[in-house]
Amino acid sequence: MPATRPEDILCPTPAGLRSKAGDFHIDPTRPVPKALITHGHSDHARAGHGSVLATRETLRIMAARYGEGFAGSAEAVTLGETMRIGETAVTFQPAGHVLGSAQIVVEAGGTRIVASGDYKRRADPTCLPFVPVPCDIFITEATFALPVFRHPEPQAEIGKLLASLAQFPERAHLVGAYSLGKAQRVIRMLRDAGYDRPIYLHGSMEKLCRLYEEEGVALGPLAPATVASGKKGDFAGAVVICPPSEIAERWARRFPDPVACFASGWMRIRQRARQAGVELPLVLSDHADWDELTATIAELGPQEVWVTHGREEALVRWCELNGIPARPLHMVGYEDEAE
Ligand SMILES: [Zn+2]
Repeated sequence: MPATRPEDILCPTPAGLRSKAGDFHIDPTRPVPKALITHGHSDHARAGHGSVLATRETLRIMAARYGEGFAGSAEAVTLGETMRIGETAVTFQPAGHVLGSAQIVVEAGGTRIVASGDYKRRADPTCLPFVPVPCDIFITEATFALPVFRHPEPQAEIGKLLASLAQFPERAHLVGAYSLGKAQRVIRMLRDAGYDRPIYLHGSMEKLCRLYEEEGVALGPLAPATVASGKKGDFAGAVVICPPSEIAERWARRFPDPVACFASGWMRIRQRARQAGVELPLVLSDHADWDELTATIAELGPQEVWVTHGREEALVRWCELNGIPARPLHMVGYEDEAE
């Protein structure tokens, strides 16, 4: 049998990464017969595939977002368990990004490729930590692949929020956070820092917070952020979690003198915070920063690096300067939703 070329194991196509040897796609952006999904963010997990293979948590997140009929069929994988798909051996391993997130390890003909999806290396109390898998080819994201992106310690950012709450006990603190992952991480970190008061949720946050709780991530007392039953003053000193798009909008004005906060890796860029009307930026990211990206590549020691979405050029150059052949895959259809 001829040696399997890496391009036959995984190759970028307009529909996403495709495995010819396994006859499947990873995180396809268009409907395909067989999809392997790394995690539940909407740019990676789309509805309408023939069959879907993902972790149980990711399948639950997809069902919560798209309804039970999100795919023709769905099968849950067990992390760390290798299965045969066509001519390939496939293993899902934790990615440390959000609940249920996984890297997908694809092997054939003695070559191992790791498609890491989105990942981070910082501690996150709401999901399993990233498992480093040594490989021949490492496919990495590049959302924050510029040396300017160095995320501060997450606890320090939560500390800023707590300090502001203490300083402005009469003001509501509106924390903009994406509904899958970031919202639950902020809540869980507040609890770990000793904050035990009720935390109020925008309606769009409730379903996924409940799902996290059912999956064993305790979030403490939660309540809907509705003023119908009370007065504006009831939210004095309260923490309200809402979509980032709401923090500077009409919806925010129902709360007393709101402090607009936004938990995102992009808050590292002062101008971006200003443009979004953010008073208290919290630099909290579910993606690897520059140091995490480069340290991960150094740790795994791949013979080659493929870079998917984000700021590919700087990371490709870093790899080349370090003697590792690298190329951008120019994948389209993956947004920054998770941030
Ligand atoms: Zn993501």
